[in-house]
Amino acid sequence: MILDHDVLVMGAGLAGMRAALEAARHGASVGIVSKVHPIRSHSNAAQGGINAAIGEGDSWQTHAFDTIKGSDYLADQDAVEVMCSEAPSDIIELEHMGVIFFRDDAGKLGTRAFGGASKARTYFVGDITGQALLNTLYDQILKAGVKVYEEWFTTSLYVVDGACRGMTAIDMLTGELHLLRAKALIVAAGGCGRVYEPSTNALICTGDGIALAYRAGAPLMDMEMVQYHPTTLKGSGFLMTEAARGEGAYLLNSEGDRFMKKYAPNMMELASRDVVSRSESVEIAEGRGTDGCVFLDVRHLGRDAIMHKLPQIHEIALDFIGIDMVTQPVPVRPGMHYIMGGIKTDVNGASPLPGLYAAGECACVSVHGGNRLGANSLLDTLVFGRRSGAHAADWTRAAAAASGPAQARETADEAFLTAEQQRVQALLDRPYTGQTHARLRLELGTMMDEKVGVYRDEAGLASALEKLHELRRLYESVSVGDKGRLFNQALTFALELGYLIDCAETIVHSALTRKESRGAQSRTDFPARNDTEWLKHVVVSRNGAAPKPTIGFSPVTITQWAPQERKY
Ligand SMILES: Cc1cc2nc3c(=O)[nH]c(=O)nc-3n(C[C@H](O)[C@H](O)[C@H](O)COP(=O)(O)OP(=O)(O)OC[C@H]3O[C@@H](n4cnc5c(N)ncnc54)[C@H](O)[C@@H]3O)c2cc1C
Repeated sequence: MILDHDVLVMGAGLAGMRAALEAARHGASVGIVSKVHPIRSHSNAAQGGINAAIGEGDSWQTHAFDTIKGSDYLADQDAVEVMCSEAPSDIIELEHMGVIFFRDDAGKLGTRAFGGASKARTYFVGDITGQALLNTLYDQILKAGVKVYEEWFTTSLYVVDGACRGMTAIDMLTGELHLLRAKALIVAAGGCGRVYEPSTNALICTGDGIALAYRAGAPLMDMEMVQYHPTTLKGSGFLMTEAARGEGAYLLNSEGDRFMKKYAPNMMELASRDVVSRSESVEIAEGRGTDGCVFLDVRHLGRDAIMHKLPQIHEIALDFIGIDMVTQPVPVRPGMHYIMGGIKTDVNGASPLPGLYAAGECACVSVHGGNRLGANSLLDTLVFGRRSGAHAADWTRAAAAASGPAQARETADEAFLTAEQQRVQALLDRPYTGQTHARLRLELGTMMDEKVGVYRDEAGLASALEKLHELRRLYESVSVGDKGRLFNQALTFALELGYLIDCAETIVHSALTRKESRGAQSRTDFPARNDTEWLKHVVVSRNGAAPKPTIGFSPVTITQWAPQERKY
């Protein structure tokens, strides 16, 4: 089947739904495709909150400065100015749409402190902020008449004459592969957390959008910047929200010492995530951890505050590790959480590939640079989701005027669909080889955590690359156990593994390229930040079928904040 829309959105998390809503408001016919039901997108898991300088005594400029300092001066300052200045109205709009943000006793919107922020400017709904935002936006897109392709899995982007014109996707319920044509496509398919094991990310965060855009020819930027969150639960790696430290939690080593006083005497536990993750890693490496963990302690906050403001993590600790946070500290370690890099875009979400837009975690505007501040990602999804939706809808009017009649493309379109159906069928038909996607995926994730984690060096990165070449070779022989058509998750998992490997390769090549330490990239062989040579973005593009991508650079935009030494 061939289906048509003006604007198509890949991904129905916060970025995708915000983009779809805005494109519909701008008069476009909009389709949104999601491999899971929209409200099961990873945005649903966001706990802590969303930043905006709304309160008295705060200003968007202070928010922008905190963001830029947090990014270790790698963020593009023009983009940060856009995000921080537009944050207050975007959040108030969401409140008017129906999100019930926490209010204090005086009835005012309540805030909590978050890491790297000089003011408490994080707005929240308990520790289920993402869920609250996502449900409200889902209502809004239905009301706006957006067509939702729920449980449709994108397998490729459709590029015609150097412009993106849609995608192919499997309707998972029937197993049919369809071509969805559009004048503009917004990729809002989330991050690639599952390149690493463990990760705080949902199992569905497999970098599909990043990999497909890269395969289609769009450049990726800042891919070496992988955020490790300082408080992920021992074992499973579940996130224990930064809101805990925002509410006053301590980090303790095995000697019961609040070790952050050595590393960040002013901000303590609320220093930037990269700083806290490194500090924990040093404590653990020097023997002041327990079983590879340090402790998150909220006991002094009291039962009422814990149950009222942090109920979800209290429940997670109880269910998964049998610890009641009211009476005991909980073991945590740094764990993969977020990718700062992604599809390179301008402040309107446009990528250098005409017709292709990106927003949310899969995009790199770049507002997070080397390290994202907690609660700035939900904000990024809303601001740049909205802007990309508006811009894509406006752009499609111009594109419609320029392109010939759709019928002229019909034959080529059908040929593309048939070729893609054959490619997917060939994977499905591959005889049983014993090679499973699950084993390779686990090997990939644990290897990346070990060699491309908080600390990196040339030798480790080079061996990671070698291992990736081997995994890619083995991937070519992965067979799909389930040969059926209906809801064939063995097939989609196998396709996801291909996306994960693409993302991992771009991460490792970028990390090898950047010979300095900045933000989340800590090279033990180049321990200092080097603004003279490295105040620039690493940009990777696919180089035909060659295993090594083309590596380029893009300057960092500095508007009003000259780089300084970063201290907390
Ligand atoms: C546990 C956790 C807690 C967090 N807490 C916070 C917080 O408190 N504050 C904050 O600012 N940030 C937080 N973050 C980060 C933030 O939640 C994410 O960066 C953000 O929600 C990403 O939104 P998104 O719309 O870009 O992508 P997602 O919400 O991940 O949505 C991706 C969408 O793409 C679709 N998709 C992907 N691949 C395909 C495919 N092949 N075919 C079809 N559809 C596809 C998915 O179905 C999904 O709908 C947290 C992240 C995690 C993991």
